[in-house]
Amino acid sequence: MPAQMPTLFVGHGSPMNTIEENEFTKGWQDIAHRIPRPHAILCISAHWYTSTSMVGAMIQPRTIHDFYGFPPELYQQQYPAPGAPELAKTILKSIRGFNITLDESWGFDHGTWSVLKQMYPAADIPTLQLSIDYTKQPQFHFELGQKLDFLRNQGVLIIGSGNVVHNLAAVNWHNQDFVYDWAQEFEEKIFDALHSDNLAALINFENMKDIVKKAHPSLDHYLPLLYSKGAASNSQEIEVFNRKIIMGSISMACYKFV
Ligand code: ZN
Repeated sequence: MPAQMPTLFVGHGSPMNTIEENEFTKGWQDIAHRIPRPHAILCISAHWYTSTSMVGAMIQPRTIHDFYGFPPELYQQQYPAPGAPELAKTILKSIRGFNITLDESWGFDHGTWSVLKQMYPAADIPTLQLSIDYTKQPQFHFELGQKLDFLRNQGVLIIGSGNVVHNLAAVNWHNQDFVYDWAQEFEEKIFDALHSDNLAALINFENMKDIVKKAHPSLDHYLPLLYSKGAASNSQEIEVFNRKIIMGSISMACYKFV
């Protein structure tokens, strides 16, 4: 029997983290060494934001360079991990009522490969992505996350990849250590909700009206957290690492749920 896997939420930040060595990439490498080696990885990335829920079913997913204005070296990066088409079919068969379909066109976006390249550089673990249906309410994403729970007993590592605070328009490019008050407030509210297992606060985060508009002008980078916590909602053990807000409005916080 494979070991029961934890789930992770990873704050991915800039795609440059793929090729840099910094405090955040060290945190990603470290966690990969501290958890059981997964049989497969299911990633829910902020960057696959679609009008239905789709699961990647390709044998050999392509590496997508879904960013602009970065150095050529970043565009040369590849993450040739095999896909997991059988696992995609298992997910489809096992989870009813969420209208999930198979996808053969996406691949790995940088929400997935920029992190995995640091965690599992050999790219030898079968990996697939599940898209985020932007037409659905947060409750849907949490409940779909809960349905993924069974995969943890099959050695599948579920990773939500986003950022607890994510406002690119507000980024202060000149000051890495700057933090907006509203970014701090939102980040702490989510930290507290997770540590007190306050699922209502986590799911109904949009109740923090004015702050949410600043912390998440769109919800794509927050929703992966609901999958990670949803898939581990029966457990209370939690670990936070890489907890830092950078450039004003990007939280790099990562969570492990056991
Ligand atoms: Zn992103």
